[in-house]
Amino acid sequence: MECIFCNIVEGKSEAEVIFEDDNLIAFLDIQPINYGHTLVVTKKHYDNFLTVPSEELTHIINATQFIAGAIKRSVNADGFNVITNNGNSAGQTVYHFHFHIIPRFNADFNFKPRFKNYSTGGMKEYADNIRTIVSKYKDIYNG
Ligand code: 5GP
Ligand code: ZN
Repeated sequence: MECIFCNIVEGKSEAEVIFEDDNLIAFLDIQPINYGHTLVVTKKHYDNFLTVPSEELTHIINATQFIAGAIKRSVNADGFNVITNNGNSAGQTVYHFHFHIIPRFNADFNFKPRFKNYSTGGMKEYADNIRTIVSKYKDIYNG
């Protein structure tokens, strides 16, 4: 299937590239939340965060830290978000793994989440259910 980020990696589509190495490429988002909004993209195609191999993830998070510092300095941002959207319900629109680095300025962060409240005992129930899955799959964690 046609992938816009693979096309950018292969040089078939243009992008404002700000950093590149053997494993990743970082370029400006075409529809920025703030100017300087950057996408850090694996050169290999992985659908999302869950399918990126561990070593590559380590590499890309280190690069993202470096690039975020450079962007913050360049646009004189007060802060920044590093996020990855996974799945349609989470706002993912390009199914090729990437981190967003979004520069932030004081008072420009408008996202107002509707927080939920756990029922009595509900918090423990959710934690127990997640702990069960964590212990079932802990062998795949290599941190
Ligand atoms: P997602 O919604 O998957 O988390 O993020 C995809 C991002 O890619 C969006 O913010 C969108 O603006 C950006 N994007 C989509 N197509 C292009 C493109 O052709 N070039 C660039 N530079 N960014 C793109
Ligand atoms: Zn791709």
